[in-house]
Amino acid sequence: MKKGAHLYLHYHKNIRDKIIKRILVVEDNETNMYLISFILRKNRYEVIEARNGEKGVETAMREKPDLIIMDIQLPGISGLEATKLIRESEINNDISIIALTSYAMVGDREKALNAGCTGYIEKPIDPETFMAEIEKYL
Ligand code: MN
Repeated sequence: MKKGAHLYLHYHKNIRDKIIKRILVVEDNETNMYLISFILRKNRYEVIEARNGEKGVETAMREKPDLIIMDIQLPGISGLEATKLIRESEINNDISIIALTSYAMVGDREKALNAGCTGYIEKPIDPETFMAEIEKYL
């Protein structure tokens, strides 16, 4: 490969990494997954989807996304347990984990923060404010 071509690719890889941030969404509810992914992609984020806690942890380790949106109630291990496992892993504290808590479940917010979540967003998701809330943590 010519030196120029190599520099070109290198430059573009860096640009891509800076501009396109990758967000892992861990959510078992298809309607919510669809809505969240749609909003994120529309705002030029790359979305990685996981539909249970185990896959969420596995994918977080492998992909090292820029941010994680974590539903609390998941089949298998909960979002709280998944968050703890991610926090104990080598990817650790650099990454923002935003919990999706249910409006009705008042205790969930406290539990989410105690488990290591950076913040939380209440469900049902408001498409008007969702992106602004997420971007506070990016
Ligand atoms: Mn759920």
